[in-house]
Amino acid sequence: MDTIVQRMQDTFEQQRVAFLAKPYPTLSERKAKLKALKGLLKRYQDRIAVAVSADFGGRSPAETKLIEVLGPILEINHALHRMRQWMEPQRRATELLFLSNSALVNYQPKGVVGVITPWNFPLYLSLGPLVAALAAGNRVMIKMSELSPRATELLAQMLAECFAEDEVAVFGGEVAEAQAFSHLPFNHLVFTGSPAVGHHIMRAAAQHLTPVTLELGGKSPALVASDSAVEMAAERVAHGKAFSSGQVCLAPDYALVPRHQLDAFAGAVERSFRRLYPTVQGNHDYTSMACEPHAQRIRDLLVDATAKGGRAIACGDIGAGRRIPLHVVTGVRDDMRIANEELFGPILPVVGYETLDQAIEYIAARPRPLALYAFGCKGAELDRLTKLTHSGGLCVDDWGWHAFNHDLPFGGTGNSGMGSYHGEEGFRELSHAKGTFKRAPWFPMGLFYPPYGNLVQRLVFKFYLGHADPSLADASLGQRATQVPMQ
Ligand code: NAD
Repeated sequence: MDTIVQRMQDTFEQQRVAFLAKPYPTLSERKAKLKALKGLLKRYQDRIAVAVSADFGGRSPAETKLIEVLGPILEINHALHRMRQWMEPQRRATELLFLSNSALVNYQPKGVVGVITPWNFPLYLSLGPLVAALAAGNRVMIKMSELSPRATELLAQMLAECFAEDEVAVFGGEVAEAQAFSHLPFNHLVFTGSPAVGHHIMRAAAQHLTPVTLELGGKSPALVASDSAVEMAAERVAHGKAFSSGQVCLAPDYALVPRHQLDAFAGAVERSFRRLYPTVQGNHDYTSMACEPHAQRIRDLLVDATAKGGRAIACGDIGAGRRIPLHVVTGVRDDMRIANEELFGPILPVVGYETLDQAIEYIAARPRPLALYAFGCKGAELDRLTKLTHSGGLCVDDWGWHAFNHDLPFGGTGNSGMGSYHGEEGFRELSHAKGTFKRAPWFPMGLFYPPYGNLVQRLVFKFYLGHADPSLADASLGQRATQVPMQ
């Protein structure tokens, strides 16, 4: 058998046994793990930036430090402040009928959590679920993407400094190993990746009834809701689309703009991009497409759009390599690939609309995105937009930052995923909420036992069901209820 798959199976078994031996880490043990992880991130920050850049063939070190290092540190800090409160059993109300008994929810670690990670933010998207899983008291196995081998090697080395393999383990390998990983009988599986692979993950997890969190992608719209917001929206969308060259699940995918502002918006995006990146080729602030197939995919999308009548404006200098400047495309038609596929790269289709209702219909008619960005939308309009559209998250007057505020749940809906993590939701997602009822010693539960028909039962039935007799109210049905069905 494949040695990586064998190691996965062995590690799973070791983690399962270790979890059974220590099923409920204390608050201070959990905190110690998170603090150790924070120390690792600080010590390794430069090596992380170098490894990720090597995998990408040029990733801005500042972007790596912002997302892959600062992101998990913010998550850890948040968890360290809130974990005591999250771990406490929650007192719940009993039914009036059961007054004087007690009802609690105990949050219990689930066991061994599997994490499957994409290549675009290999550390942030491994460590985010890891922070939630450790805060919730679990053990964790992480399967990294085949497209981030150097980040995988570094993460494995880094985590091995502070965690035994039966606590946290990292695996590399190809898609075949990811498939084998998804078939392990985890107590929970967190998958971050494309909706297409999300289907495979759910099928694999169904085999063991493993609960899944699916963090998927999609086409997140940026809606420019008023003329006065055009310049502001253009700058923020240009940043969102150019950050890591648009290889971000949360990047604005396309813009919806009042039709008479299409050209003004496209021009403003181009100017903003040129301000942020005066040159593209050789600019270390601008990230490359992570591999040639993805770069070629972007070129092909542009060829398809222009062949079908779209106008593509290159916002910066074009070279032979994988640093592709942002292209704004107008004249978008429904039969273009850019109107249907998640772009995950530096192309911004700009679609015109006449009325806000039309824009809302356009969004609602498409698969539910991971985020919606609304610019210049206030009061009753924003309220309507919030209630009439579905998206994993909503960010007003900017893009993406909702995911960087770790007291907010982060996750998709429909085609963009299910379940959420970050902050309290992450802790709850990876804990089992055990509903616990404790009977008071003197409580007269026997009053609900047979033979049925005592005074208390009659009063309860009368109060809740409107009829005091515990036997059937409709005498004509009595025969049937007591008859044994004929074979
Ligand atoms: P992908 O779905 O191709 O791969 C994701 C991971 O799944 C990789 O580790 C890969 O090895 C593994 N994998 C591939 N086929 C598999 C299979 N059949 N069974 C089990 N595992 C398999 O995605 P990608 O190209 O790495 O990343 C880009 C996608 O991820 C985009 O759709 C993007 O929107 C999405 N994404 C979502 C988030 C989020 O938080 N919601 C974050 C980043 C990326």
